[in-house]
Amino acid sequence: MAQHERSFQAWFDEVRDYTLRLVGIRSVSPSAGESEVAREVVRLLCQGGLGAAYTAVGLDPLAGDAYGRHTAYAFLKGASARTIVLLGHIDTVDTADFGAQEPWALDPLALSGRLDALVQRAPAAAHDLATHPDDWLFGRGVIDMKSGVAANIAVMRHLAGLASAGTLPLSVVFLATPDEENESAGVLQSVRFLLRLRDEHGLTYLGAINTDYTTAQYPGDPHHYIYTGTIGKLLPSVLAVGRESHVGDPFDGLDANLLVAELIRDLSMNDALCDVVRGQAVPPPVTLHAADLKSTYDVQLPFAASFYLNVLTLSMTPGALLERLREVAQSALTRLLRRLDETEARWLAAAGKAARAASVSPRRGAVLTYAELHAAAVKRVGAAAVAGALNEEWSRWPEQLDKRTRSMQLVWRLWQVAGAAGPAVVLYYSPPYYPHVAASPCPLHDAVAAVAAAHPELSLRVEEFFPYLSDLSYLRLHNETDIAPLTANMPVWRDPAAPARPGSYTLPLEAIRALDMPVVNLGPYGAGAHQASERARMSYSFGTLPQLLLETIQRLG
Ligand SMILES: [Zn+2]
Repeated sequence: MAQHERSFQAWFDEVRDYTLRLVGIRSVSPSAGESEVAREVVRLLCQGGLGAAYTAVGLDPLAGDAYGRHTAYAFLKGASARTIVLLGHIDTVDTADFGAQEPWALDPLALSGRLDALVQRAPAAAHDLATHPDDWLFGRGVIDMKSGVAANIAVMRHLAGLASAGTLPLSVVFLATPDEENESAGVLQSVRFLLRLRDEHGLTYLGAINTDYTTAQYPGDPHHYIYTGTIGKLLPSVLAVGRESHVGDPFDGLDANLLVAELIRDLSMNDALCDVVRGQAVPPPVTLHAADLKSTYDVQLPFAASFYLNVLTLSMTPGALLERLREVAQSALTRLLRRLDETEARWLAAAGKAARAASVSPRRGAVLTYAELHAAAVKRVGAAAVAGALNEEWSRWPEQLDKRTRSMQLVWRLWQVAGAAGPAVVLYYSPPYYPHVAASPCPLHDAVAAVAAAHPELSLRVEEFFPYLSDLSYLRLHNETDIAPLTANMPVWRDPAAPARPGSYTLPLEAIRALDMPVVNLGPYGAGAHQASERARMSYSFGTLPQLLLETIQRLG
């Protein structure tokens, strides 16, 4: 592709203008406002009579969406079927974190006159403002990620001009998706959109460039990061079953909360469970919720309790994680039961019951997966009875019940159907699931490396795993990722081909495998995403980023 130079200032003015327009439209996920942004994206792509330059441009409605949302798309068919996908999300998180400044959260220009209160709570923002006083734009969505969408629009408009002149050497698709901050409904539908487009036009996808938030990795970090993969996430969950007993006879039972405490002690912040790949490590697991199943006060030991664990992944598969958790849970359970045996003997001796103290019978417990518990229940009462009980349990709860809570209730019901006795630990998966994506040798990753090398003045660093959960997870599923251990152990899983069911969770995993795109995140630079101090560094985000995107595409052409 011939070099089409465009000045920093021309990019800057255009991307700044689009960013302010998009930020001004409230699009907290999930809400109907997301469609308003989608409509504005299409308007900006087409304004000035450019609409006819696109092979296709418009809105793709999300099937069965309660908020009537859309993904905005534009397609430019160039001289070659080799196709690059530009990707961005148009939704944001809520604005309540702005507190007294909330009325100006979507008006960065008005907000700039009221930064003192915001900056008081964010010393890093004060430091940034002191270092580069006129280069920061504050507001909800400025960096996560309406400036990234704005840069994509500017680049698409530039490429549409080339297409009109017949000088666009490759094909380009742009997708602006809703729901990224929620359940990624936008990109999940886009997977099928991209497969359809591929079949209709005989396209070969080179990969997808997402333009989401990037930031410093440590104070004073001079680098700008480009990523060639993304982290994933699993939400393994635990039902801990103790044994009922009156508080006066605790040795006859087992406090399920004590069992949970031991399990959390061994699992939460355990760096041995961190996925480490080629020099990058995810943060250790932490719980996101823990509770017992009691709803009222009484003097029985809590007989069951549950929690779930946030586990970020770079290479760990659902099956491998389940086996790691089984080992940790088995050792925690064994250690607790031995300790209780010893405690009981000591307590009996202190109470003058030496003979009984000598004959305390060792406690036993089991660790099993949801799939194993299911098999045990089927063996006991038959498949039809198990399915009937789980269906009845499902219908007992309102449609809006949290999917994690519904999962836990289904496991508890299955435990009762299986008729086993505690203590026991049941391991299962709750939604959501974000597959990780690793880098792979491909023209897109070569192009990104070449662009980074061509700009030493920008301190560009290419790293493998984008460290935030994003829509990129749903564009590629590695062959070695066996999903059967996930789906067989996720109580609310629904096969994509099965009829819709309120409260169920599904992913088009086979479609994602068919799409199988290399990914890149080359996004705007800022700080404070999901905080009131959210801010974009304007020079890089508005002036530099679109040029880097264009140069990457030029190297592919
Ligand atoms: Zn984002």
